[in-house]
Amino acid sequence: MEEEAYELIKRAGEKGVLQSELWKMLKTNSREGSRIATRLESKGLIKREKVLYKGRWTFKLVPVKTETKEVQWTTLDGCPCFTCPNIRECKLGSAITPAMCKNLTEWIEKLIKKSST
Ligand code: SF4
Repeated sequence: MEEEAYELIKRAGEKGVLQSELWKMLKTNSREGSRIATRLESKGLIKREKVLYKGRWTFKLVPVKTETKEVQWTTLDGCPCFTCPNIRECKLGSAITPAMCKNLTEWIEKLIKKSST
């Protein structure tokens, strides 16, 4: 559900999404929703902005901008996804997901090491 929440917040872009609206979209309650928002915020993926909405204070959830770098095809050399037999089933919110993929994580870690040397 955390991944789904993050995708919805990212899709909302700079205008963000009111947390109460997000809870409705996720079909969850405010308690669980707040936990998700706290986790996303602690990971630095989103920020919470206090806003006045219909006379009440609430929070708007906005994705944190990440620095984008130009991607070159050579950067993708060795990406395990290109030869993965699970590519069709792999997606956020699925049992097979990039967020939990050991092969993808190891490949990214190698890229990071390579770029920092
Ligand atoms: S993230 Fe992992 S499981 Fe998904 S397609 Fe890439 S290698 Fe396969």
